Amino acid sequence: MDIPFKQRPALLSPASLNAHARRCSRVTMSVQIPKSSPRPRWAGLVRSGHVVQGVGLSAVTWFLCHQKSFSGRCSSEAAVMSALRVTRVLQNIAKTGWRSQSTAPQAAGAAATSHPGFSFELNEQQKEFQATARKFAREEIIPVAGNYDKTGEYPVPLIKRAWELGLMNGHIPEHCGGLNLGIFDTCLITEEIAYGCTGIQTAIEANSLGQMPVIIAGNEAQQKKYLGRMTEEPLMCAYCVTEPGAGSDVAGLKTRAEKKGNDYIINGQKMWITNGGKANWYFLLARTNPDPKAPTGKAFTGFIVDADSPGVQIGRKEMNMGQRCSDTRGIVFEDVRVPAENVLIGEGAGFKIAMGAFDKTRPPVRSWGQ
Ligand SMILES: Cc1cc2nc3c(=O)[nH]c(=O)nc-3n(C[C@H](O)[C@H](O)[C@H](O)COP(=O)(O)OP(=O)(O)OC[C@H]3O[C@@H](n4cnc5c(N)ncnc54)[C@H](O)[C@@H]3O)c2cc1C
Repeated sequence: MDIPFKQRPALLSPASLNAHARRCSRVTMSVQIPKSSPRPRWAGLVRSGHVVQGVGLSAVTWFLCHQKSFSGRCSSEAAVMSALRVTRVLQNIAKTGWRSQSTAPQAAGAAATSHPGFSFELNEQQKEFQATARKFAREEIIPVAGNYDKTGEYPVPLIKRAWELGLMNGHIPEHCGGLNLGIFDTCLITEEIAYGCTGIQTAIEANSLGQMPVIIAGNEAQQKKYLGRMTEEPLMCAYCVTEPGAGSDVAGLKTRAEKKGNDYIINGQKMWITNGGKANWYFLLARTNPDPKAPTGKAFTGFIVDADSPGVQIGRKEMNMGQRCSDTRGIVFEDVRVPAENVLIGEGAGFKIAMGAFDKTRPPVRSWGQ
């Protein structure tokens, strides 16, 4: 029996958008623009090998309704009309916010010469990742997901399997042994795994959240040490930012780090930390400037903290409705000594790093409808 695909979220994520576009039409959008017509704002993007992603709902709806007018190549007046329609779509995109992600130079070059315009079609590698993740979800996650949710047991065998299949840690750069996947590719994978179980996907995705500060801000030695080990064995890490009194308002966090010689001494409490009790290391954000008037962009510092450091006290496991197998905990840091070499970039750079990590890891979270 075929298992019905999960219900789509009301607001389409880039991955959902692709799935919708693919299911509704096999047509590749391809428009020729006469030289005399005004240069649409997306022309530069397409020519330079970028793919428009994260399209807003209104633009998507419009595209799905009008997709027939884009099929095949258009000519003369029809092309002008089509170009105007595309400009309208892209004005909607601009209004609702879009992202662009550079594709591989070779692929971009080929696309630019053979198909002027943009395409929602997945490339072969993306189709392969999607199919593998879907098969994993259907055949290995769904049969056991209910039991994991009931017992709250951490899904170690499934995490090991996802690691073997290359379905986790996708963002890790190649020089650390990773796949160096882009945001869109990871959205495709996470959407499929979350279809099997959002709790299991939360555990897997928290690794990306924990790793991302090191990916975007770590030096080579930090990346090799902390990311490299995650491509050698299925280890977990976690992102420690939220506190009992500081959630959305990250700038309000109270955890302090004081420099003592070549080390920092960390004291404070973190809350709702996914993989908190399973992580091998943490990214931790702490205040290093005690002056309450210090600007947020300079008051906080990002650290890599080994989970077995003396003074790390793991709290009780929280019960997350529908995601019980995900390991969410509070963690107390009491006089935890962290070497200065574990500071990301430098003192005061932490807030931007923590926010930068969200930029790259929130799209996959949205791709499973959370
Ligand atoms: C299952 C789970 C896993 C998590 N994993 C992690 C993790 O791995 N690492 C980590 O650091 N954190 C984690 N978190 C914490 C999560 O990031 C916070 O819950 C989130 O930032 C919201 O903070 P809060 O719960 O304190 O809510 P609050 O910030 O108190 O917000 C409560 C409500 O008020 C609204 N609100 C807040 N501020 C404003 C404002 N200025 N204007 C209008 N509305 C506002 C919010 O939208 C929300 O609806 C996790 C949370 C959960 C539930």
